[in-house]
Amino acid sequence: MRLSRYFLPVLKEDPKEAQIVSHRLMLRAGMIKQQSAGIYSWLPLGFKVLRRIEQIVHEEQIRAGHIPLLMPTLQSADLWRESGRYDDYGEEMLRIKDRHKRDLLYGPTNEEMITDIFRSHVNSYKDLPLTLYHIQWKFRDEIRPRFGVMRGREFLMKDGYNFDLTKEDALHAYNRHLVSYLRSYERMGLQAIPMRADGGPIGGDYTHEFLVLAETGESEVFYDSQITDLTFGDRQIDYDDHAECQAVLEEFTSRYARTDETHDEAIFADVPEDRRRTARGIEVGQIFYFGTKYSEPLGATVVGPDGARVPVHMGSHGIGVSRLLGAIIEANHDDKGIIWPEGVTPFHVGIVNLKQGDASTDSACTALYDEMVKNGLQPLYDDRDERAGAKFATMDLIGLPWRITVGPRGLASNKVELTNRRSGETVEMSPAEAVVRLADIYAPVLAAALPTV
Ligand code: ATP
Ligand code: MG
Repeated sequence: MRLSRYFLPVLKEDPKEAQIVSHRLMLRAGMIKQQSAGIYSWLPLGFKVLRRIEQIVHEEQIRAGHIPLLMPTLQSADLWRESGRYDDYGEEMLRIKDRHKRDLLYGPTNEEMITDIFRSHVNSYKDLPLTLYHIQWKFRDEIRPRFGVMRGREFLMKDGYNFDLTKEDALHAYNRHLVSYLRSYERMGLQAIPMRADGGPIGGDYTHEFLVLAETGESEVFYDSQITDLTFGDRQIDYDDHAECQAVLEEFTSRYARTDETHDEAIFADVPEDRRRTARGIEVGQIFYFGTKYSEPLGATVVGPDGARVPVHMGSHGIGVSRLLGAIIEANHDDKGIIWPEGVTPFHVGIVNLKQGDASTDSACTALYDEMVKNGLQPLYDDRDERAGAKFATMDLIGLPWRITVGPRGLASNKVELTNRRSGETVEMSPAEAVVRLADIYAPVLAAALPTV
């Protein structure tokens, strides 16, 4: 993309309404525009990152054997009356009437609807296990929407639902979700720690929230510092292997890590004092096993092996796709702006032309651009007639992990500069070497992608 042809409405001044850094930077970098409280337009740069995150989530769900579909945002109130949640949900639910005075609602979540799909089409235990998910906009009329996309009213969520014959199978589905979530967050350059969460009215141990540590997080968390040493990395996993998935769950959840809702001082005291940490965290996902809570009232049953009908065991599992942009920025920024992890960056590299209009510098930039595209890279070429300082400031603000600076002086000896956004380190090399270097850097990111979703 050439910056002169793009739409990147960066702001010079700090917007007053932003209380936290990610919100401020998303506005300044021209990623979002607020349309009403907690409701945003996604401008091109923000939309690109949102799509990258969505893509990673899709890929890791599909890798785990989960099946994408798409349910509508508007739902009929009748389904929610069947489960009993229409009255229980309270003011967070946006209720709508159509012209025939029928009650609709803008879905805050989809347990009822997916259970309805299941009961309409699945009849036998032989069709299990089954996990369906979608990535769709949700609406929750939050009492205090704030912090930009972190706590919106309309927000994008991945929500997945597993259907299994037995509790044991459903817990395996729970473990698959845990593993696929660990992989997803790591690909986004984030450490999200599974913490034991509150089961709500259903109770039980089978729910974990994934938290990114950040001072601006809304949750208070308590953990054993050893847990921050764990990474999933690029290990291979067989998602059908119950023992393998269970082992990952145990590895990542056996140390103390809880949100304030489930925190227990007496157990925490058993963690050696020098490893006890109290911090704040951003919830970027949650997994949940809830047994037959919805399948019973909604009649989602299958014919079991012995011929009798039984309600299926279910769980639901969510990732806050739009909130993740805020969380990633909270964890990756400096005074100058955003620093995107390579897995989610909107463009792989920025090209800064120091002497726009100079024929040989312009053609060197164009050649570099074309070579990068040929190598599967997506560059953003700042070809505006601007001072170098202004171009650098824009690149720093929007946070591309790499920048190539091209000017007549360097070109005289066939050199350009490659600068790392995070470290600020600059290395001189030929344009051809810069392309090879960047192709190498991004090879794992490009290879991690599944060919189709
Ligand atoms: P919270 O406790 O933050 O209100 P929740 O526990 O009610 O969230 P879930 O139902 O678990 O949310 O939804 C799954 C994920 O969706 C959450 O982990 C979070 O990342 C994201 N999410 C929930 N509410 C919002 C919101 N208002 N704005 C943006 N993302 C949200
Ligand atoms: Mg939650």
